[in-house]
Amino acid sequence: MRETFHRFAEDLVRPAAEHVHRTNADVPEEIISGLAEIGGFGLSVPEEYDGMAAGGESDYLGMVVATEELSWGSLGLGGSLITRPEILTRAIVKGGTEEQKQRWLPKIASGELMVGVMVTEPDFGSDVAGLGVTATPDGDGWRINGVKTWATFAGRANVLMLLARTNPDRSVGHKGLSIFVVDKEPEEGHAFKFTQDDGGVMDGRAIDTIGYRGMHSYEVSFDNWYVPGENLVGGEEGLGKGFYLQMEGFENGRLQTAARAVGLMEAAFGAGLEYAQERNVFGRSVFDYELSKVKIARMAMLIQAGRQFAYSVARQMARGEGALEASMVKAYVCRAAEWVTREAMQLHGGMGYAEEFPVSRYFVDARVLSIFEGADETLCLRVIARRLAEQALSA
Ligand SMILES: Cc1cc2nc3c(=O)[nH]c(=O)nc-3n(C[C@H](O)[C@H](O)[C@H](O)COP(=O)(O)OP(=O)(O)OC[C@H]3O[C@@H](n4cnc5c(N)ncnc54)[C@H](O)[C@@H]3O)c2cc1C
Repeated sequence: MRETFHRFAEDLVRPAAEHVHRTNADVPEEIISGLAEIGGFGLSVPEEYDGMAAGGESDYLGMVVATEELSWGSLGLGGSLITRPEILTRAIVKGGTEEQKQRWLPKIASGELMVGVMVTEPDFGSDVAGLGVTATPDGDGWRINGVKTWATFAGRANVLMLLARTNPDRSVGHKGLSIFVVDKEPEEGHAFKFTQDDGGVMDGRAIDTIGYRGMHSYEVSFDNWYVPGENLVGGEEGLGKGFYLQMEGFENGRLQTAARAVGLMEAAFGAGLEYAQERNVFGRSVFDYELSKVKIARMAMLIQAGRQFAYSVARQMARGEGALEASMVKAYVCRAAEWVTREAMQLHGGMGYAEEFPVSRYFVDARVLSIFEGADETLCLRVIARRLAEQALSA
């Protein structure tokens, strides 16, 4: 697994990464089709739905290792490409009807369906339970109204995993949310607009970001957008279960984000070490100085600690445990990535700040890791500290 994904990252992802970052271009289609060919989109899809997951420990470990290698290639063009299909897959496996599993999972695994995830809204990010986008019954289907934001890859995506309020009584909070799989046409570039025959409108524009470029993250408004009833995940049974299914997907997403951070750190470490060995100051290589060696050793320690922690959580999750630890590893490793990429940049001196050196991209890419998939503070507050307190009380 590691060799296959490493070779793919080296041959296809790395060569494209700088151009995409500096021109804010789209993910090259050959990366998507190549990743589909080596099974990258089906790592968590069960074998009976044409994926690679056999139901054992190696499913989770394989996903972590593949993500690590792809993110070593590029965060935006590699490791993160498989995050969204992972999240939707988990939700469908857990809460979808048999018909929905047959309909969507094989196409996710084959890369025929690219996925966008729509949870965040302009007024509700960390506070998922308060979401305001509505889905209102209309004949055999639903009408979606409201605005979602930060939906990564929503332009290129063929399906959007949308968390919406199906129960108009807002006092029920997260129990009023359900998940829809919204079909759309894939679109290149930084904006899209679709109109349905009966007037439904879906309108998206990409938000420019300092890093994590390629997939683009969109603000999307829905105006009476029609979604057929069969696209409600779980059917009638799925009504009000959206929050739980979303969180199921996010648990895996957090582990995967830790793996993304490990891969990115490894790339920064490699760049920092190489530069330090090549660059001479005061007549000796930067590496030759003791301060640099300590710096490099500390970077390597953090990377190895993060990697082994992620592997350990993968094993726990394979046993149906590790939800708390998935949040912990995400919070820990993503913070570490900020420091490691900073130190790698520092070893480069002025050239670390030059766009032509990949380490400047690693630095800005790393910054997003503590913001998405559960902002650091929210994870610590709402998941880690809360669960630790619950455990202490029940002991
Ligand atoms: C590049 C990028 C890609 C993204 N991709 C997606 C995507 O594909 N799909 C999607 O749905 N979302 C996506 N997001 C959104 C991301 O998940 C949210 O930005 C994140 O959940 C935080 O929400 P927010 O931005 O509304 O911050 P807010 O909720 O407004 O929080 C602002 C700050 O306050 C802190 N905070 C919140 N509550 C508390 C508290 N009680 N005490 C102390 N501090 C607190 C937060 O940690 C944060 O630091 C993406 C974001 C980015 C930047």
